[in-house]
Amino acid sequence: MSTALKEHNASSKSAFEPVIGLEVHAQLLSHSKLFSTASAAFGAAPNTQIAPVCLGLPGALPVLNAKAVEMAVQAALALGCSVRPWSRFDRKHYFYPDLPKGYQISQFDRPYAEEGKVEIQIDNKPRTLRIQRIHMEEDAAKNIHGAGGGSDTLVDFNRSGVPLIEIVSHPDMRSAAEAEAYLRQLREVLLFVGVNDGNLEEGSFRCDANVSIRPVGQEKFGTRVELKNINSFRFVRKAIEYEIIRQEALISGGGTVVQETRTWSDGQGKTLAMRGKEEAHDYRYFPDPDLPPLVLRESFIAEQKEKLPELAEAKRERWQSELGLTEKDAEVLSGHPAVAGFFEQSVQLCKKQWPSKKTDAIGKRVANFVQGEVLRHTQTTGLEANIPVTAQDLAELLILVEDNVISGKMAKDVFSAMISTGHTPKQIVDEQGLAQVTDVGAIDAEVQKVLDANPDKVAQYKDGKQSLIGFFVGQVMRATGGAANPKLVNESLRRLLGS
Ligand code: ADP
Ligand code: MG
Repeated sequence: MSTALKEHNASSKSAFEPVIGLEVHAQLLSHSKLFSTASAAFGAAPNTQIAPVCLGLPGALPVLNAKAVEMAVQAALALGCSVRPWSRFDRKHYFYPDLPKGYQISQFDRPYAEEGKVEIQIDNKPRTLRIQRIHMEEDAAKNIHGAGGGSDTLVDFNRSGVPLIEIVSHPDMRSAAEAEAYLRQLREVLLFVGVNDGNLEEGSFRCDANVSIRPVGQEKFGTRVELKNINSFRFVRKAIEYEIIRQEALISGGGTVVQETRTWSDGQGKTLAMRGKEEAHDYRYFPDPDLPPLVLRESFIAEQKEKLPELAEAKRERWQSELGLTEKDAEVLSGHPAVAGFFEQSVQLCKKQWPSKKTDAIGKRVANFVQGEVLRHTQTTGLEANIPVTAQDLAELLILVEDNVISGKMAKDVFSAMISTGHTPKQIVDEQGLAQVTDVGAIDAEVQKVLDANPDKVAQYKDGKQSLIGFFVGQVMRATGGAANPKLVNESLRRLLGS
């Protein structure tokens, strides 16, 4: 940030209000492309996943992918949108090497979904941000500049035709923090519906931010700038914050904001002018004559609604009320759908084998162990999480603790061994001879030996030096090589000492 901008930032209690609207492109996780059977998978060798339509070869006709439509409709319903029974596809024209047909198939004035919402929490207050529309479109190919180390630009058509939905918000956000919260919430919904993998870095979840400012109290919006190249949450926040300050400085200095597209340069920490902003008429939109209108029956829409899984927000509320989790626990465990699923499955399995125990006690136990141990060994990629143990094995482990076969502390070591050997908790306990002594008779015998060996300490204890209990416990644990169950040792001591 330049010094002038910094000073401006520091000195102004701003007379301007920022207005922000986001356009998000989310890749639908269907196997094939939007209008062909070519694979839509990410990461393949360049130009190995292309059908004639992806190259715009003469005579090749697009055929709509039904699976992609199902996913698009599910996303729209999860976001509270109304789905149009009748929408259509349009051609959006521009010339660029990444677009072999000379147009992108998109939806213009009849998008398939409209008017939804995203609920966020900002400064601990709920706030509703509105979605204006969602439309389906195909992705363009990818230009690879400087390919092979030279100055050439090569084109990878694997991405050409990959199914996207574009989610366009109303200009409802009033700060970079709100924009970030909207984006995180939107990503979470799509991730939990299971239609997008939320990867900003790989570009399967991309955001353009429209930013303008207006004098506080003025109704009319100011001229907006569209920000691109903001492929992380951090960049989104920094780019918007920078842009707000740049526009304030510009207007305060008597200048005007020009409508344009700017790009975020993280290296320079600023937004840079890219090109003038196109208007809709520049694209020469018209209905694509190769595709019939998209007609969605009411029964089809109802079916997609049926298929919606429980979303993260609902899980968090349920976990807090049913399982007694704290808000923070619920937040962490709902951070990824696969982790949330693993947690719930583990709770269910524990409950089955542990019917006498109260549900909230089980929930807490599982939550603590998953957060303290399991998540440290878990990485998530897309919709997958490589959780190192099964819910079945985790439940078995926690039940060994509950049944006093091993201590909570030993459970952590057994867990490490489960990961390194792949054996079940019971196998490890047997192999390593870890089972705790829980036979009360055997423990009483060890306790009695310790008491007999320390008559002076016993006398002091009986005189009121209660703290000696720790000493006795320590002696018994040492005598049993740490195998005695500490809780039972305590009980035995108090019983035999007559206190
Ligand atoms: P375009 O088709 O040129 O991208 P739209 O009218 O569809 O333009 O709006 C795109 C996005 O810009 C929407 O998210 C909208 O909320 C946002 N937007 C529109 N006007 C403004 C403005 N004055 N300031 C900030 N954002 C705006
Ligand atoms: Mg746009």
